[in-house]
Amino acid sequence: MRHYARAAMFATALLGGTAVWAQQDMSQVQVTATQIAPGVSVLFGSGGNIGVSHGADGTLIVDDQFAELTGRIQQAIADLGAGQVNYLVNTHWHFDHAGGNENFGNAGALILAHDNVRRRLMAGGTVVGNVTAPAPTAALPVVTYDKGLTFHFNGDTIEVMFLGGGHTDGDSIVRWHDANVVHMGDMFMHQSGWPFVDVDSGGNVEHLLNSLSQVIAMTDAETVIIPGHGPLATRSDLIAFRTMVQTGVDRVRALKDQGLTLEQALAAKPVEGLRNNPNGFIADDAFVTAVWASIDAHRG
Ligand SMILES: [Zn+2]
Repeated sequence: MRHYARAAMFATALLGGTAVWAQQDMSQVQVTATQIAPGVSVLFGSGGNIGVSHGADGTLIVDDQFAELTGRIQQAIADLGAGQVNYLVNTHWHFDHAGGNENFGNAGALILAHDNVRRRLMAGGTVVGNVTAPAPTAALPVVTYDKGLTFHFNGDTIEVMFLGGGHTDGDSIVRWHDANVVHMGDMFMHQSGWPFVDVDSGGNVEHLLNSLSQVIAMTDAETVIIPGHGPLATRSDLIAFRTMVQTGVDRVRALKDQGLTLEQALAAKPVEGLRNNPNGFIADDAFVTAVWASIDAHRG
């Protein structure tokens, strides 16, 4: 529990906002379910939103929040009328999305993720001051992929796709083809301000914009979007989010092209007033800094 408090402190100090995923008291968290389509639901609790497919073929979940919440997540899944989790997809390696891996792995779930998710879980690392220890074997993805894979499951075609990442270097989206649902992982946090581009985990805002464009191209007005954090969203929400990010990136790039240093660019406040939530946990300066690093990495 201690490291969550530490994460909250660091996030507040470094980013100047509310840490949406750094929770100090898990005991008060309730896990609630919303049905999106028959056999397709989303679970809200603390940490990343969980996608669920359940039916005659079994149960598949997308992300698993924190280890302390596993029991409540399992109960919420049982309340849907679903059986034990057979498959668990990690959208990325962050502790608020993959924190329950060891519990679900030990309970018999087959864990799947992009190659870089397994690599980062094995190595451990630091995310906004939060130290994640190298994961035990039971928490590691057993099946990994580079581009993606497809489940033929519960009457739907469920595509797990790596579109180039952006939040990290291992972000998957999960698309229910027939139900017309897409889980975005943290490449989209709805009504949460700036995206978190985790440069230390291989994130890059150019890749993020590219991934968002691909999702926008494969969805329509009826698509239900499950964001990594925040309430359910639509394709137009995703488009508005992408436009906000692109506008911010363009403004930062213009200053960089003029030859300003990062310090001068920060002082110019190029993205002030642009984000869709002033309380989002990524402050303007943190976003500008991440964009700056992303452009450098892209050119380098
Ligand atoms: Zn994340």
